[in-house]
Amino acid sequence: MQAHTSCETLDENEDVAALRSAWFQRIDHLQQIVTENAGLECATRCTARCCPKSTAIQDPAQAVGHVAIMLPFEREYLLAKTGIPQEKLQYAPLELSPDVNIGVGFITSAKPCPFLTADHGCSIHAIRPLDCRSFPLIPFFCSDGSIAFRVDIECPSAKTISAAFQARLMEIWRNLLPDMPMSYRMLYNKL
Ligand code: SF4
Ligand code: SF4
Repeated sequence: MQAHTSCETLDENEDVAALRSAWFQRIDHLQQIVTENAGLECATRCTARCCPKSTAIQDPAQAVGHVAIMLPFEREYLLAKTGIPQEKLQYAPLELSPDVNIGVGFITSAKPCPFLTADHGCSIHAIRPLDCRSFPLIPFFCSDGSIAFRVDIECPSAKTISAAFQARLMEIWRNLLPDMPMSYRMLYNKL
């Protein structure tokens, strides 16, 4: 998958504007219902091993190698909220529907996360992507489009993550399914 860093060529029309507005509202809502007390021990057991960073500053053997994949329009949401230059966040083009092309943001060590702080914190913790909030729970899509989940055992908190947190996240992802076209689900798997 070729990464892109600019949305200039993507279609802009009323359909896109309406979808963006709906997703921005959804993402706002997600931040209210996703809470802490997840049983994660990031602060004491880890140095943000799941947050993509340059191999120049991390031993690759210590990295979890998680690819953070954003929801539709979550990249635009973060750009709007933080004001960072759009080239800081990669995206993959996606035909969301025959008339709507968007860019799905993602974060890999190829373009390390611009929100990771020097002391292994997340500078956008309150509004970080749902994919980041969910880790080490990782959703994936089956060939029939249904959603399934696994826990990344490379995460030092994999054994302490609470069942209630996992159940809540699974419910959140499942509730988003009606607004995730098959094209998005397959791109998510591919990234
Ligand atoms: S979720 Fe896991 S890998 Fe990521 S910072 Fe927390 S303990 Fe580390
Ligand atoms: S947005 Fe925050 S949690 Fe997600 S990869 Fe970047 S620093 Fe880590």
